Amino acid sequence: MAKAIVIGAGFAGVEASVQLARAGVEVHLYEMKPHRFSPAHKNENFAELVCSNSFKALRVDSAAGLMKEEMTRMGSICVPIAKECSVPAGGSLSVNREDFARMVTEKVESFENIFIHREEVTEIPKVGKDADAVVIAAGPLVSDALSKKIEELCGDSLHFFDAAAPIVAGDSIDMEYAFAASRYDHGDDDYINCPMNKEEYEAFYEALVNAEGAPQHDFDKRKTGYEGCMPIEVMANRGIGTMRFGPMKPVGLRDPKTGHRPWACLQLRRETKDGDMFNLVGFQTNLKFGEQKRVFSMIPALHDAEFLRYGVMHRNTFINSPKLLSADYQFRTVPGLFFAGQITGVEGYMESAQSGLMAGLNAARFIKGEEPLVLPKTTIMGALASYISDESVENFQPMGANFGVLPAIEPKIRDKKERYAALSARSLQYFEREE
Ligand SMILES: Cc1cc2nc3c(=O)[nH]c(=O)nc-3n(C[C@H](O)[C@H](O)[C@H](O)COP(=O)(O)OP(=O)(O)OC[C@H]3O[C@@H](n4cnc5c(N)ncnc54)[C@H](O)[C@@H]3O)c2cc1C
Repeated sequence: MAKAIVIGAGFAGVEASVQLARAGVEVHLYEMKPHRFSPAHKNENFAELVCSNSFKALRVDSAAGLMKEEMTRMGSICVPIAKECSVPAGGSLSVNREDFARMVTEKVESFENIFIHREEVTEIPKVGKDADAVVIAAGPLVSDALSKKIEELCGDSLHFFDAAAPIVAGDSIDMEYAFAASRYDHGDDDYINCPMNKEEYEAFYEALVNAEGAPQHDFDKRKTGYEGCMPIEVMANRGIGTMRFGPMKPVGLRDPKTGHRPWACLQLRRETKDGDMFNLVGFQTNLKFGEQKRVFSMIPALHDAEFLRYGVMHRNTFINSPKLLSADYQFRTVPGLFFAGQITGVEGYMESAQSGLMAGLNAARFIKGEEPLVLPKTTIMGALASYISDESVENFQPMGANFGVLPAIEPKIRDKKERYAALSARSLQYFEREE
């Protein structure tokens, strides 16, 4: 039986393994947990969500939702499992992270031809000698030893930094100062909203920009551009109003106590269905733990909040894919060696999962001597594969699912809603043809 090695059982690694296993390949999946944990990983199960528990929107006329629909059509395991263990979160697909990781692990373990090795890989296995194909899916927090080997192989690799948000206990939120609602009433009062008036917000802002650990200027200077995970204190440093246009924006919310839109509002999203844990949406931070407690407790609803996990900041690594990879995620100069996940420069949990799916599928095709399958650029999955392998891209930066990566529809559709619906329909046509 042909043999493949997959390194890393994160979002990309599990999808790659399943694709290979379904193609009849003997898969050896290496995962360093629980012997070694990256600074952000804590759970010994596979496909661990290290920060937000949201997989973003589900609607197929949104880019994130369309990508998930494409993944479903391509046989993803992450999307259906996420739906099975979802928690209420308005229009977004958010999960109980413990259940999700456990169910994904059980699914992978259920394949007879996937052999799991709980050990760290420190050398890049040789295609043709150690296995018929190799998929490196060791993530943005790849262990140091393997990271060195990848750097030797790639000539250079790029690093940037991002951060995770704190989680508080549900029963420690003072609902006297909070209200349940989804923005614009989308969803079922799924978020807990922590409103602030102008004075409270300004005092909070002052405390935040002066808190210890707050001047995280390096993050800004590095120009690595992962705005989605920018620490809240870095955002605050850009100006007093910035948070009110970002995660603390009050639009679409009305405080039932005052009958008005609050001046600023922090949203809390469920981590679990029963609402015993909530994360502070958009409040990724690098502040010292004591400072997080002091400053975030200035938000009236959080005055007595119990912090179950503090925010942290981490290295994040990706390779210069446009110079190194083809659109099938294969390393150009080493046939049979594939990269997948965030390390390729796709950005996000599900983006990583979809790249793993395609890398695994193409590794199986490589083993069988078949042509690679590259999805058309009119699909989100195909457009991301094209982006990470586009040699003309200068100053390569990670990219998540968005409609901007798809070719425009001619003649142009001015109405945004109609345009998104048309882009979505065009993508799905491809899968309907193939089914
Ligand atoms: C701190 C942080 C916060 C993030 N927050 C978000 C967010 O909120 N939302 C979002 O969509 N994305 C977020 N991301 C980005 C990205 O979506 C995740 O990192 C995602 O987990 C990437 O999937 P992956 O499969 O590439 O890597 P991972 O899911 O990290 O999986 C890689 C696996 O490889 C294992 N491994 C590493 N080195 C070795 C080795 N040498 N041998 C064996 N096993 C190894 C690791 O233990 C891990 O299990 C965040 C990233 C970081 C670092």
